[in-house]
Amino acid sequence: MEWALLKLNEECGELIQVIGKLIAMGGDYDHYDGSNLVVRMVEEMADVYAALTYVANKNLSADEQAEMHIRAWLKRLMYEEWNA
Ligand SMILES: [Mg+2]
Repeated sequence: MEWALLKLNEECGELIQVIGKLIAMGGDYDHYDGSNLVVRMVEEMADVYAALTYVANKNLSADEQAEMHIRAWLKRLMYEEWNA
């Protein structure tokens, strides 16, 4: 669990960093280092997803995983309502 949480923490930090760069660039995805920030964001979102699902699948009970999925869908519905 400790190793997996370390990876999840690291990947979340990398995603936060890329989002910060996108915000700092005012939404312009061509970063001055030559990279495409949207491409980097998609990569880091995938890394977070992989680490998150790994931690959940290896460490949570079936009930806890079900609670996680239900909460995620409820949160998603709330975001949809906020953006409607
Ligand atoms: Mg990463």
